[in-house]
Amino acid sequence: MRRLRGGISLGPRGTETTELRYVSTRGAAAILDFDDVLLAGLASDGGLYVPEVWPRLTTDEIAALAGLPYAEVAVRVMAPYIGGRIPADRFRAMVEETYAGFDHPAVAPVVEIEDGLWLMELFHGPTLAFKDYALQLVGRLFDHVLSARGEHITVIGATSGDTGSAAIEACRDSDRVEIFMLHPKGRVSEVQRRQMTTVASANVYNIAVEGTFDDCQDLLKAMFGDAAFRRDVRMTAVNSINWARVMAQIVYYFYAAVQVGGPGRPVAFAVPTGNFGNVFAGYAATRMGLPVAGFAVGSNQNDILPRYFDSGRMTATEVVPTLSPSMDIQVSSNFERLVFELLDRDGAAVAAAMTGFRERGILDIGAARWQAARRLFSGHRFDDDATLAEMRRLHDATGMLIDPHGAVGLAAARAAKGDAPMVALATAHPAKFPDAVEKATGARPALPPHLADLFDRVEHCETLPNDLAAVESYIRAHTALQGAA
Ligand SMILES: *Cc1c(COP(=O)(O)O)cnc(C)c1O
Repeated sequence: MRRLRGGISLGPRGTETTELRYVSTRGAAAILDFDDVLLAGLASDGGLYVPEVWPRLTTDEIAALAGLPYAEVAVRVMAPYIGGRIPADRFRAMVEETYAGFDHPAVAPVVEIEDGLWLMELFHGPTLAFKDYALQLVGRLFDHVLSARGEHITVIGATSGDTGSAAIEACRDSDRVEIFMLHPKGRVSEVQRRQMTTVASANVYNIAVEGTFDDCQDLLKAMFGDAAFRRDVRMTAVNSINWARVMAQIVYYFYAAVQVGGPGRPVAFAVPTGNFGNVFAGYAATRMGLPVAGFAVGSNQNDILPRYFDSGRMTATEVVPTLSPSMDIQVSSNFERLVFELLDRDGAAVAAAMTGFRERGILDIGAARWQAARRLFSGHRFDDDATLAEMRRLHDATGMLIDPHGAVGLAAARAAKGDAPMVALATAHPAKFPDAVEKATGARPALPPHLADLFDRVEHCETLPNDLAAVESYIRAHTALQGAA
C-alpha cells in the first residue's frame, strides 16, 4: 500500500483508504489512530486531539453532496477521519442506524425564514438538542471499538443540562459502557432531569450531588486527577473535548451549505456557542474545503468569546445563570483547537499560551493571530431580554417557536448578515425550554410523541453529598459488579 503523508493511500484494487492520525494541540502526547483518540478523550499532555492533516473534499465532491440523504453526506464527510480503523461497511451501517432514529426524514431540516436567512433544526434526535447528532454516533463507535478489543469503560460526566441526557441516551444500550452522570440536585430543569433519570437501563447511574454545577465539575476533575481511581474503573469522558464529537458535527455544515448555494458561493453560519465545539466543527468544514463567508458566534451574558473577538484578549470572569443554560460557560475548552491553528500548529506555543491563561486568567496570542481569527469569526452577545425579544420576533413573523439557545444564534445571524446566504443553527427543541418560550410568546410548546409521557415515568437517581470519597466509592461499588474494576 502506497502511503502518502497523513493522507490518502491507494489500497488494493486501486480503492482509496485513508490513514489519518491525530496529534495533540500541545504537541507532547503520542500520535494516535482514530480508535485510540475516541477512547482517550483528552490527550496525556493536557491538550486536545486534532487531525494531523485536514482531509480535503474537492469542489466537485462537495457539489455532489447536494440532494443526498443526511446519512450519505455523513459517511462521505467523516470517512477520511476514521483512517481505515473501522471497516467501511460497518461504519456506514452505524451511521445509517444512528440517523434512522431521528424523528425528521431530513434529520437536520433547513428552513428559510426570510430572504437569504435559514434556520437549521438540530433538535430531531432523541433528547432534543444538537448534541444527539454526535453522541448518538459516538455511543455506537464506543460499542464497536470496545467489542473489538474485549474491553469495558466507565463514562463519568457532569451536566447542567443537555449533555447529560444526550450522553445517557447514547450509552444506555451498551453492554460495554457504564455511565455515571452527576448533576446538581434541584438545579437542573425538570424536563432535563427527567430526560436523564427516567432511563431505566442497568448501566445508567444518575447522581444528584448536594451542591452546584461547579461542585459537580470539581468532583469530575478530582476523579480524573485520581490516577488509581481512573485506572481501576477505566474512566473516560464524553464532553466536547472528544474529537469524535467534533467530527460528527462537521457533517451538517456541508449538508446545509449545499442546500443554500454552496459550494458555488460562500455561505455564512450563526452558531450559539458555549464550549466552542459546534462552531469549531464549522471551522473544520472550511479546512476540508467548504467556502464559508463567516461564523457569527452568539453568546448570552457569558460573553468571553465576543469579548475576545472584539479586543484580542481572552479574560475569564464569573459565570452568570441565563435563559440559555447550556451556554453558561466561561472557558470554552474547544477554543484551544482554534488557537492551535492560529499558532501554526506549534504545540509548545499552545501549551505556553494555555498555561498562561490558567495562571494569569488572560489569553493573548498577539494582534496578527487575532486579526486572522476575526477574518472568519465575529462575536455577538445577547442578554435574556434580547433573547426573549428574538423568540417573540420569530413567532410574530412566522408562527415558529425557537428555544433560547437558538434565539441567541438567530439574533447573531441578523447582526452579522451580509450578502452571503446565512444559516442559523437552532440547537434545541423549544419544548426543552417551555417556560422561556411561553414567557416570550405566550405559547407553551408540547413535547414530541416519544417524550409525551415523560412526566409519568419513574425516576432513578441516587442523592450523594458533595464529597469525593462518597462519589468514588459509589462508582467503585457499581462498576465492580460489571467486572470493570
Ligand atoms: C451544548 C449546547 C450549546 C453550546 O454548544 P458548544 O458546542 O458547547 O459551543 C448550544 N445550544 C445548546 C442547546 C446546547 O445544548
